[in-house]
Amino acid sequence: MSGCGGCAKGSGAPVDPAEAAEDGEFPGPTTNACKLCTPLGACLAFKGVEGTVPFLHGSQGCATYIRRYLISHFREPMDIAASNFAEHSAIFGGREVLHTGLANVERQYQPALVGVATTCLSETIGENMPQLLLEYREKRAGAPGGSELVHVSTPSFRGTHADGFHAAVRALVETLALPAEAGGEKTGRRSRAAQPVALFPGFVSTADLRHLREIAAAFGTRLTLVPDYSDTMDGASWSDYERIPAGGTSIEEIREMGSARAAIECGRALTGQARTAGTHLAKLGVPLHRLGLPIGLRETDALCAALTAVTGCVLPPAMEAARGRLLDAMVDGHKYVFGQRAVVFGDEDMVIGLTSFLCEIGVQPVICATVARNRNFDAMLRAAVPELPADTLVRGRMDFADIEAAAGERKPEFMLGHSKGYAMARRLGVPLVRCGFPIHDRMGGHRLLHVGYAGALSLYDSLVNTLLARKQEGSSIGYSYL
Ligand code: SF4
Repeated sequence: MSGCGGCAKGSGAPVDPAEAAEDGEFPGPTTNACKLCTPLGACLAFKGVEGTVPFLHGSQGCATYIRRYLISHFREPMDIAASNFAEHSAIFGGREVLHTGLANVERQYQPALVGVATTCLSETIGENMPQLLLEYREKRAGAPGGSELVHVSTPSFRGTHADGFHAAVRALVETLALPAEAGGEKTGRRSRAAQPVALFPGFVSTADLRHLREIAAAFGTRLTLVPDYSDTMDGASWSDYERIPAGGTSIEEIREMGSARAAIECGRALTGQARTAGTHLAKLGVPLHRLGLPIGLRETDALCAALTAVTGCVLPPAMEAARGRLLDAMVDGHKYVFGQRAVVFGDEDMVIGLTSFLCEIGVQPVICATVARNRNFDAMLRAAVPELPADTLVRGRMDFADIEAAAGERKPEFMLGHSKGYAMARRLGVPLVRCGFPIHDRMGGHRLLHVGYAGALSLYDSLVNTLLARKQEGSSIGYSYL
């Protein structure tokens, strides 16, 4: 599923035995990796910043592949520039094509920011990106305009799309956020208490981003979301082509994050990392709350508790009502879901959030799988979901072949994950409840709501209805009242 063939982890090439041994795992082939390419995640994160053009330092095919994947999920136009490596650049280095490409993008798009991500090829030949970008800045010094340049290193042979996403968010904040004093001088802003809360939502849907704003508004605070692609990747139709779609968090807002009232960083995969966007703000004196993705009751409760701690506002009536509706639905539908066996797959944070939700509603996750090379995935998941049965298979670095083989033995009633698991679910004869990214075989995958009490309710309805439909279709009588 990594799919482009340029990345050894997704092309069927063997995993490097030394690397696998270092990770304490058996070195076997990866036949269909349950991940997407790392710069893809970075490009999506860059699309959440106003006036930004994502730029790949590498081959044009990488940009085409990523555009095709994102367009197919979001159903929106998506420009990604590239330095267009050819043989000469691969052998002698890509300084010239990088500088030419950046100059072309600045001239044609006049972007506020260019987000530069490296591909497998430029990473493999060891391009010295800080030096190359410094030279470009020196070259254009004195010329009018000039975009912000933010660089992120995204070798796809070492990470997933989620890693690229988080790395780009961190690069944006590390490059742009100013310390409180400097931010105050520059922007004339007031005390921390008057500032928005900085929220790093993780790799979620456009509906999720909008709903997080609504949740914060219910607590009486504004958010600075990084990234926010809710408009750029899910906007209204245009009468004329727009080179850079409107929307996204502005550079000024990111600069001011150093003075934020507090920061909330979602994603348990990040909690073990010392260097993230959130920890950078913490170094600037911003109080940091590190949570999981707010999927299901418990994780949404944790988000609400963090917002209460930040704002002093107890659970607002609208949130309390949404929580009540979720509990009521859980009572109504428990007879359909209790004891059902599920396979959950996808990126780490989504798998942890979904597993937590499944355990809350009485489903038994029999396999929790991610391709991420996270040695602590099992411990991380079990710490977040302590009631998870001991015999549940929890593993990182699983490809679709591994998941399918394990699922054949464990006989799940359904699967929960993105649409790339469809072929596997079809062969196993079980339904796939689609969520996360990517969803290429349904409309509106990017508008699926996962987060908050409302997101849990929506997931719950689709899950119960999938099971009911299966029961109905498998019935010789054809019940119409279930
Ligand atoms: S960066 Fe690597 S994995 Fe991504 S499209 Fe290019 S070659 Fe493929």
